[in-house]
Amino acid sequence: SASNAVLLARREAAVPRGVASAAPVFAARAENAELWDVEGNRYVDFAGGIAVLNTGHRHPKVIAAAKAQEDLYTHTSFQVVPYEPYVALAEKLNELAPGDFAKKTLLVTTGAEAVENAVKIARAATGRSGIIAFSGAYHGRTLMTLGMTGKVSPYKKDVGPFPSDIFRAPFPDARNGVTVEDALKGLETLMLTDADPARIAAIIIEPVLGEGGYLPVPTEMMQALRAICDTHGILLIADEIQAGFGRTGTWFAIEHTGVVPDLITVAKSMAGGYPIAGVIGRAEVMDALQPGGLGGTYGGNPVACAAALAAIEAIDSEGLLARSTALGEKFRARFAEIGARTAPYRMWDIRGQGAMLAVEFVTDFETAMPDAALTKSVIAHALKRGLILLACGMHGNALRIMVPLTASDAIIEEGLAIFEAALADALA
Ligand code: PMP
Repeated sequence: SASNAVLLARREAAVPRGVASAAPVFAARAENAELWDVEGNRYVDFAGGIAVLNTGHRHPKVIAAAKAQEDLYTHTSFQVVPYEPYVALAEKLNELAPGDFAKKTLLVTTGAEAVENAVKIARAATGRSGIIAFSGAYHGRTLMTLGMTGKVSPYKKDVGPFPSDIFRAPFPDARNGVTVEDALKGLETLMLTDADPARIAAIIIEPVLGEGGYLPVPTEMMQALRAICDTHGILLIADEIQAGFGRTGTWFAIEHTGVVPDLITVAKSMAGGYPIAGVIGRAEVMDALQPGGLGGTYGGNPVACAAALAAIEAIDSEGLLARSTALGEKFRARFAEIGARTAPYRMWDIRGQGAMLAVEFVTDFETAMPDAALTKSVIAHALKRGLILLACGMHGNALRIMVPLTASDAIIEEGLAIFEAALADALA
């Protein structure tokens, strides 16, 4: 088959540069936490296809369920002829989601589509139009969700203007000078200056900020948001697209705070590698739109529904929630060791929740400026040595861990050893 270089040249000629790839190699096959490129090089995968593979590449139960479904039918469109896997997945999600009340679930195909639909549902249910999102948020690349995404470059550059009635509040990031008190003050000010709370349909927040840097929302912040929403009749939307399905050690990251949202957006690791997403919410809120107001040709594809049911079953029966918590502790301890040994004062912060973990690189002890160049170099060296890593953060200087929760201890240790060697390369 073709070499990485040949495929890269074809890709550059045929695919727009706007779709960037982190790794300049092409996949040939993958299994659990390992991937092989077209030249036969093997990689340990700490990126999991951007937090999609909590159950690993090609989990046997996921593959078997998808294949069994393919032998029955692969598409009818739920809007033409409905099928049980859609209903069964909705029932399962209604049962798993926090909240002691009746719930309903809409299935769509991508995370951005889930967020778009959460906004539509919130607007229809409240009769209001305003949406409040946070700095550093990532909610997608469609125009509404891009408007809600709180980072200019590379996402929002050159493609505005964005839909109106989207407001921005500061995300609490104490280390960068924004305490919970500051963030709430900012929200209060926003509601006085621009965002009339009586016109706000929803506040949307990632319970652990994902693309923005793997920052958990402090419990007191989440509680305050719930109280503000209750006071003003605003719906609280938890965007669990990256943090959900065991990444943080619970089914949904917001469970760590005890706060119950009105709507939850899900995608990624819900289906172990198949494109499916959803909005879970209070039944009466979910029913706000009239028949025909929700949907799409492909929404809740039956093969993806079958895969999701199997992935959820695997997370449950294989103890992956507890595994996530244990992996988080392991990564914290090993990153602290590696930092002290190989890069003193350059690994500034190790943070996150469960196995949704990131480490931030800085220039030096004194100024502690974000060091995106070092982060990039570590990623490039790691790839050469056989480890797939991905960055995140407002300054591109955080390395995030999205390794399959099914990875063996041996593979995790192998990846960590490659990481340390790559770090040494980058600093040499
Ligand atoms: N919300 C969050 C929190 C995400 O992490 C992402 C994807 N990184 C999205 C929404 C958008 O999902 P998709 O890429 O499937 O549209």
